Amino acid sequence: MGTFPEAQARLYGSVYVCRICESKIKLPINKFLAGKGVCRKCSSKKLRVVRLRSKK
Ligand SMILES: [Zn+2]
Repeated sequence: MGTFPEAQARLYGSVYVCRICESKIKLPINKFLAGKGVCRKCSSKKLRVVRLRSKK
């Protein structure tokens, strides 16, 4: 996506990925830490943080 690095950092700071279906979920970090993050697709609570530098 053609976004600014600053905007990207802000974006990925609160984006999580479902471990089950790998869909992205936007979530405030306080909700994530409280365990209230739920995937919209498969309603799984198993989320992981999107890593900025995860290029292989
Ligand atoms: Zn899911």
